[in-house]
Amino acid sequence: WSKALARTGCRNVCSSPSRLQSMSAWVIDQYGSSAVLRHTDEISIPTINFAHEVMIKVSAASLNPLDLNMRGGYGAALLNLRRDPLSVMNSFSEFPLILGRDLSGVVVDCGSGVTHFAPGDEVWAAIPPWKQGSLAEYVTLTEYEVSYKPKSLSHIEAASIPYVANTALSALVNAGGLCRETSSNKRVLITGASGGVGTFSIQLLKAWGAHVTVTCSQNAEGLVRGLGADEVVDYTAGDVAEQLERMERFDVILDNVGGDTEEWAMGLLKPWSGAKYVTLVSPLLLNTDSMGLLDGTLHAGLTLHNKAFQNITSSGVFYRWAFYAPDGPTLDEVSRLADAGKILPVVEAQFPFTQVPQAFHKLEQGHARGKTVVKVA
Ligand code: NDP
Repeated sequence: WSKALARTGCRNVCSSPSRLQSMSAWVIDQYGSSAVLRHTDEISIPTINFAHEVMIKVSAASLNPLDLNMRGGYGAALLNLRRDPLSVMNSFSEFPLILGRDLSGVVVDCGSGVTHFAPGDEVWAAIPPWKQGSLAEYVTLTEYEVSYKPKSLSHIEAASIPYVANTALSALVNAGGLCRETSSNKRVLITGASGGVGTFSIQLLKAWGAHVTVTCSQNAEGLVRGLGADEVVDYTAGDVAEQLERMERFDVILDNVGGDTEEWAMGLLKPWSGAKYVTLVSPLLLNTDSMGLLDGTLHAGLTLHNKAFQNITSSGVFYRWAFYAPDGPTLDEVSRLADAGKILPVVEAQFPFTQVPQAFHKLEQGHARGKTVVKVA
């Protein structure tokens, strides 16, 4: 996988600083409900400060549950440590904060050390949560976080993919131990498969040849089957664990739902055969927010250790937490799969830049069927 991702080619590019001073963006100045979202034309353009940075004019962005959570202050303790490791800035220095983790757009400027991109390149990226987001005209990222946008997708379509793709790949590859070469004989269960991460994961796993079972609501069955799901379990039609227990055991479970899922899901894995339960819903950031960085991290670490130890010793299955990881080269491979027609964008709703609060409202209602995208320019 990593070999396939190796980036080739080297291009000399210019480094012309932008002459623009300010840009249009949606910001928050404090944590809270959607009332804290504010549009402004007076946010400083994120200039290039390091040799390997690229400045991107954003064409489209998309929203993730993380945007809702971050708007309310979720993860602030850990994210602020990452933004300002030496704590030299004042508290609340993260404001005005720009949300939005996905972008599709065009490179407008490059640092002197950038070798892979040039102004005019169409790119996509998933922006790490400690950086300023894509609900803005411009974003600056390192070239390692950026990838060429699939040529076959519009900016709106492309913006629906990067964050869920980086998350799903981190979960399935790094935590789940799956890859293109070894997935063909694997049985994978995806819970919460009708949302952003799930709809991407189904397609990736089918492209890799895995057998995919999913859980979702009855009215999402057509969507997930259309994306390739082999077996669909309606979690609203009675006891979901009971329905799944009637099936052959799984090699990997990707849990997008959390809550009590792990209580019944561990027993669905093949015992003593390297099977893995991977959840994207962990208490790490909630712990660091409520207990402070040290206690929160220790508490989360202990929880993870205890659960992993208990499961490996009792049934030989691995218990793991997974997290989004920024990774431009991984998106290169996703771009190839998208251009080959193996990954389709699932855009459920699209909003103009003037209606970002409405886009948040849509997300807040839940029941996502793919992604909510914002057309920025
Ligand atoms: P979405 O909101 O896009 O999708 C969630 C989906 O789950 C919806 O389609 C919802 O539809 C469905 N769902 C809700 N309850 C159940 C249930 N009990 N059983 C089956 N399906 C259910 O979220 P994402 O796909 O973007 O993310 C999934 C989870 O992963 C979220 O909790 C998110 O916060 C987390 N995440 C964590 C990351 C990390 O770094 N750790 C990164 C990215 C995401 P309906 O309610 O209609 O059934």
